[in-house]
Amino acid sequence: MMNKNIQRLINDIESEVRYTRHFIGKDKLDDRVMDAMTKVPREQFVPDNVKAYAFDNGPLPIGHGQTISQPYIVALMSDLLAIKPEHRILEIGTGSGYQTAVLSLLCTQVYSVELISALSESATKRFKKLNYANISTHVGNGYQGWPEHAPYDGIIVTAAATHIPQALIEQLKPGGHLVIPVGMPSFHQELMLVKKDMAGETEIQNILGVAFVPLIEDQMDYSQLLH
Ligand code: SAH
Repeated sequence: MMNKNIQRLINDIESEVRYTRHFIGKDKLDDRVMDAMTKVPREQFVPDNVKAYAFDNGPLPIGHGQTISQPYIVALMSDLLAIKPEHRILEIGTGSGYQTAVLSLLCTQVYSVELISALSESATKRFKKLNYANISTHVGNGYQGWPEHAPYDGIIVTAAATHIPQALIEQLKPGGHLVIPVGMPSFHQELMLVKKDMAGETEIQNILGVAFVPLIEDQMDYSQLLH
């Protein structure tokens, strides 16, 4: 039987999907995605002081000025990637590793890049403890992607970029989807779905207004954010 807390969270995600159906163009997300959402224990990905809220459909602070994303957004972005079991997916912004874990249940391998080494290390430990074996982590600036393992079947960015990074377009396979929030911190941000066709041409769809922490351009910006 499904845990009562998870059942409530799943119901909350499903109703938010219905409320936003005119933006996202569907009233139900992919069954495989929703199944993965029931399986990943979100309480294991949040700090002790906010564990009581782990099953609320909202973002939570995870330290270093960063947040674990809202479960509805995690589910929606996973759905927009149109993941197949054989896919290899690149994620920018490991953070707590919650989104990474959801993706790992949907595809063959997840490659996840995080700028803040302390967050990358704690997420990597968590994957080991919880037996997520198909995740590779890397400390680096996600604006550059992770060229060593490119091209990817899908790319997801979980922080707001000022623009769509060219490196990510280049590292996406023809036929692949890039899901990325674009906009300025504290201003309007738009969740975008970038589709690369078989000829390598890209088409951009605006999905929904969102609020993400910024995708940091370089370490200087990071130190400024903390002061
Ligand atoms: N998917 C994560 C979201 C974390 S918030 C989760 O649900 O927990 C966004 C993350 O992006 C933060 O951890 C932040 O440190 C990271 N980040 C910000 N700028 C980055 C950059 N340029 N490259 C890689 N990661 C970055």
